[in-house]
Amino acid sequence: MGKRLVLVGGGHAHMMTLANLGGFLGKGHQVTVIQPSDFHYYSGMGPGMLGGFYQPEDIRFATRHVVEKQGGRFVLGRVVRIEAAQRKVVLEDGSTIAYDVLSCNAGSHVPQTAVRGGMEGIFAVKPIERLMAAQARLLELAGRGRFSVAVIGGGPSAVEVAGNVWRLLRDHGRHPADIHIFAGRKLMARFPESVRRKALRSLQGRGIHILEQGYVKEVATGRLTLESGEQHEADFIFLSLGVKPSAIFQESGLPVGPDGGLLVNRYLQCPGFPEIFGGGDCIYFLEQPLDKVGVYAVRQNPVLLHNLLAALEGGHLQPFSPGGDYLLIFNMGDGTGILRKRRLELDGRLAFLIKDYIDRRFMKKFQAME
Ligand SMILES: Cc1cc2nc3c(=O)[nH]c(=O)nc-3n(C[C@H](O)[C@H](O)[C@H](O)COP(=O)(O)OP(=O)(O)OC[C@H]3O[C@@H](n4cnc5c(N)ncnc54)[C@H](O)[C@@H]3O)c2cc1C
Repeated sequence: MGKRLVLVGGGHAHMMTLANLGGFLGKGHQVTVIQPSDFHYYSGMGPGMLGGFYQPEDIRFATRHVVEKQGGRFVLGRVVRIEAAQRKVVLEDGSTIAYDVLSCNAGSHVPQTAVRGGMEGIFAVKPIERLMAAQARLLELAGRGRFSVAVIGGGPSAVEVAGNVWRLLRDHGRHPADIHIFAGRKLMARFPESVRRKALRSLQGRGIHILEQGYVKEVATGRLTLESGEQHEADFIFLSLGVKPSAIFQESGLPVGPDGGLLVNRYLQCPGFPEIFGGGDCIYFLEQPLDKVGVYAVRQNPVLLHNLLAALEGGHLQPFSPGGDYLLIFNMGDGTGILRKRRLELDGRLAFLIKDYIDRRFMKKFQAME
């Protein structure tokens, strides 16, 4: 007798499972995929889309199409709760979907606790599809006169976003903008000094200001306040702070890690709920904390594909091994990149070309637009 597999989110860790739904359906199982958009956007190319180097259609996976063309069921919606005892998920509209096996790849979000009032003129770097609205707003401002952009955050996404805002306005803006990165105490503090210097040189060389006087305490439309009480005005604010896993697990009373991510063991399976699996930014891997990078989500793909089928069919589970150090390449927005893996570092045009090649190859493999 077939069973019901439900996937929450068609994110980066579900790519292989989505591409191989036929294998599940062929064995008589029903597959339902729930996602708030017909498409899933590839974060690695998000800043490049913001800068106008990629078009939105270059960086999105056709999730609904992939599911439906194989005979699966796609539900446009957002899961708000998992009722694990009853084995069902609850959607925003109050409807429920029952499962025998559940896999969660619902990603992460940028916390907005520092925001006071509404979000007018304030954009978070996730979800990636919101970068399209950010781009439109930036171009609208650039059509009116000189204006200021504040990017809050000191990590790679702040660096990439600032560099690509610069590119967008260079290529399409009628008026220049003053771009400031509010980088906390130190830009790229998690990285070796040599990487930090490369990023500083690239950004400052283009007139992007980097402030390292302290963390931003409060953000409101048109204004931000530092811990010291110092205030700065900005016409456009990007929140590029670290991400937090989807809140649905905590709200569902499921086992979670210190960051609120769904707790999973080496089989990417939730302890106490062997029928619940997960991957990507929304999990907390019990064996060792993992950075919130797409690289791990991508590496989890074959294990999730195998284990979901094994859980449905009663086979052996495979353990996930995070692997060693990973390659990172930052898109600086001016046609150059900064590449880092272990002791290898490279900046310049070649680094960006390598990133572009890897990202386009990944898209081609799973995009499935036809
Ligand atoms: C600007 C930026 C650039 C980055 N660049 C890189 C990079 O170059 N390399 C790298 O390794 N990492 C990069 N990262 C990190 C990377 O974004 C994450 O690690 C990666 O997105 C994690 O993938 P994911 O599939 O778990 O989550 P997500 O990409 O967040 O995908 C989650 C999916 O689940 C869906 N979803 C969300 N909530 C629900 C819900 N409640 N119900 C149903 N569906 C839901 C979403 O619509 C989405 O499709 C970058 C991050 C940012 C912000």
